[in-house]
Amino acid sequence: MIIDFKKYADGLVPAIVQDAVTYKVLMLGFMNEAALEVTKNTKHVTFFSRSKQRLWTKGEQSGHFLNLVSIAVDCDKDSLLIKAHPIGPTCHTGADTCWNETNEQKDFLLYLEQIIEQRSKVSPDESYTAKMLGKGINKVAQKVGEEAVELVIEAKDDNKELFLGEAADLMFHYLLLLKAKGYKLQEVLEVLQKRHKK
Ligand code: AMP
Ligand code: ZN
Ligand code: ZN
Ligand code: ZN
Repeated sequence: MIIDFKKYADGLVPAIVQDAVTYKVLMLGFMNEAALEVTKNTKHVTFFSRSKQRLWTKGEQSGHFLNLVSIAVDCDKDSLLIKAHPIGPTCHTGADTCWNETNEQKDFLLYLEQIIEQRSKVSPDESYTAKMLGKGINKVAQKVGEEAVELVIEAKDDNKELFLGEAADLMFHYLLLLKAKGYKLQEVLEVLQKRHKK
């Protein structure tokens, strides 16, 4: 891998870290050759910290390491895109990413999953989500089946609005079923990604 460290007076190349599964941009750091070597050897993403003026392995104090998945160089070889599995929150504020306050690029389905998690805790009287989950796994699974059938029926017709509505219903109840079973959408995405790699 050729990287143009000499492009910058301080020899530090910007390295963007992205979650390998959710594609969320987690943080930005800087790497010199030594940081890159340590990253490759230990599989823990390591930067040269400009404030500490030394090599800094993300997570060295907090335990919130970034486990290396891949390293890519950009078109003109002066910046890095690091894919990683974050062990815990990446930002020192405790947020998932260093841009959490304005994290609009978050996948909407993952966001919706979080909303379902929150709504599952309120009273069934004020929340459809809480009411459905309160009925138990079998009822939720049955509802997924019903929505799937409704989608199949709409697939036979040519009404875009109704079809998209049923497609959305199915996705929502699918997320409810994952919640009822105690699984995360991320776990499903990992299964899909593993198959994709084969
Ligand atoms: P850690 O590397 O997670 O053990 O954190 C050690 C120290 O590094 C923290 O106290 C912060 O000063 C700094 N730090 C941690 N995470 C970040 C981050 N995502 N961006 C910038 N500085 C960080
Ligand atoms: Zn570039
Ligand atoms: Zn941060
Ligand atoms: Zn429906």
